[in-house]
Amino acid sequence: MSAPSTDDAGSRQPQPAYQASQGSPLVADQKLYSAIANSTTSNGGRELTDSFIISPRSGRAWTVPVGSICRITTPDGPQVGDLNIFNSHDPKEHLWTARSRQLHRSHLVIYDRLWSNLPYLRPLVTVIANSLEDYGVDGVGGRVHDLLGTRCDPYVNKMLTGAEFDFHCHSNLARAIKPFGLAESDVHDNVNLFQVTGLNKDGQYFIEPSPAKAGDYIEFFAEIDLLFALSACPAGDESVFGWGADAMERMEKCCRPLKVDVYKLQDPQLLSGWTSPQCPSYKSKD
Ligand SMILES: [Zn+2]
Repeated sequence: MSAPSTDDAGSRQPQPAYQASQGSPLVADQKLYSAIANSTTSNGGRELTDSFIISPRSGRAWTVPVGSICRITTPDGPQVGDLNIFNSHDPKEHLWTARSRQLHRSHLVIYDRLWSNLPYLRPLVTVIANSLEDYGVDGVGGRVHDLLGTRCDPYVNKMLTGAEFDFHCHSNLARAIKPFGLAESDVHDNVNLFQVTGLNKDGQYFIEPSPAKAGDYIEFFAEIDLLFALSACPAGDESVFGWGADAMERMEKCCRPLKVDVYKLQDPQLLSGWTSPQCPSYKSKD
């Protein structure tokens, strides 16, 4: 056990429950990933292989091959994106946000990883770039790129307000993955990209407006072959977040598109020393 530390105000700062030593898969090789992040199309390090816009209040799914980079951008200003990630060969393996936030933190920063569910438990992606890295913690305790919450969905909307709306992130993700042979029940707890959230003094989940500007982005390195699915949230930049028909109409004014770019690495040297992660060798007993 290391000694307890204190924060600037002198109060006790508990140690994280999950700690790892150097060389653990929890600790990303910063030299390797920063070199990958520094590759550009102009320096010949990466080549653009796919690029498209996701229209406001819609969703799309696409494959990201192992060893590739996927960049998600807010091209026209603040917009939240709800992201699901699957193993493209075996979609029973998918993102596990609860374990990811335990292993790293509640909101994504560079070198954090997104992990898969049991019995797989391996990094699906590593965050290699984040233009909002300096957002840190705001005055009310909010942070950006949320792993605390989950997607908006039409069932909770109906339960809370009686209203029906068919373009919640859950519905957008369900429609997006359908062409890949997946069903609504395959949509799982997601990352809320560009979304600022936190817990208030009573432990209640809050959402604040997204700070993203036109051109802000986050980049993921694909550790295995992946299927991404992303919804441009119908709450847009979350500045007037709410539920019900009135809110859906009000929030439409702050909805913008998202942009997706997929890059293949051109320089094999960039992956020198990297291997695609394996699942733990543990086998469950009957
Ligand atoms: Zn949403």
